[in-house]
Amino acid sequence: MSSNKPMPVQTDISAPFWEGLKEGRVLIQHCSDCEKWTFYPRRHCSHCFSHQVEFREVSGEGVLYTYTVARIPTLPEFAGPEPQLMAVVELDQGVRVNTTLVGLKEDEIKIGMRVKPVRALVSKDGTVLLRFTGVDVDLAEIDEVPKQPEAPAAETAAASVRQIPLSDEEALQSLVSDEFTPWSNQLLVDQDMIDQFAALSGDDYWIHTDPERARKEGPFGGTIAHGALVQVLTSRLKVDLGFEITGFTNMVNYGSERLRFPSPVPAGSLIHARARVKSVERLRRGTQMVLELNIHVVGQERPAVINDLIILYM
Ligand SMILES: [Zn+2]
Repeated sequence: MSSNKPMPVQTDISAPFWEGLKEGRVLIQHCSDCEKWTFYPRRHCSHCFSHQVEFREVSGEGVLYTYTVARIPTLPEFAGPEPQLMAVVELDQGVRVNTTLVGLKEDEIKIGMRVKPVRALVSKDGTVLLRFTGVDVDLAEIDEVPKQPEAPAAETAAASVRQIPLSDEEALQSLVSDEFTPWSNQLLVDQDMIDQFAALSGDDYWIHTDPERARKEGPFGGTIAHGALVQVLTSRLKVDLGFEITGFTNMVNYGSERLRFPSPVPAGSLIHARARVKSVERLRRGTQMVLELNIHVVGQERPAVINDLIILYM
């Protein structure tokens, strides 16, 4: 598992529904005593309490009964760039299904519209969730398994970089700003990466390495990355500062003035970074620039890492 999103747990009763979805089939229960349909899967008919219920394949088409647009994640695990389109769909058999809509823009969603099922692959183990889209939308399957985004193109816009000689005090001071750079590339922090860091650092505490226990006992609904891991991933997040200091003989990473881990990075999160120049000072040991570099889970206001890096030019 490479995501902290809650996953369905199959029971003996619900297994045919979940296994059917993996094969692209929508199976719901039909009662042979009263001829009515039941959803969600259960041991008895929800109309007459008969135990004579059996799964039957249906088209999965229906109408949108109601919906809401959740712009604030309903759980931290659902944070992302897109709002959640939460919906209740009434299948043609009359049962209602809690779901989310995909492949539709907000202004295309209308209560009462015809909808059809979409298989959403959500986990490397093959788990499929039942989502819905408009009947006219060309979409039957969607792959939502978190993946590593493409690496950024190497050193592209070199022409737009402002060259600043170390001797130019005014230009150096003009870099100091409350404004952050644009976001860097995005990087997936998955369980494999966390496990590798646990092995390397020796910090294999269960909150990082045991997804099962972390889901049951941890405060975050799953495992989280080590703060130190996220901090060192800075090197893989290419922040375009928009300037380049020239005219020095030596540049040293002098450490950090402040290092904080204000919020967790759940396994399966995408992270990105941005930076700003906080101060430039002339000191005896050289010219010291403090660069505030913040790493966030994509879509989260609160940084996961705040690092005031000290760069010394000599
Ligand atoms: Zn019945």
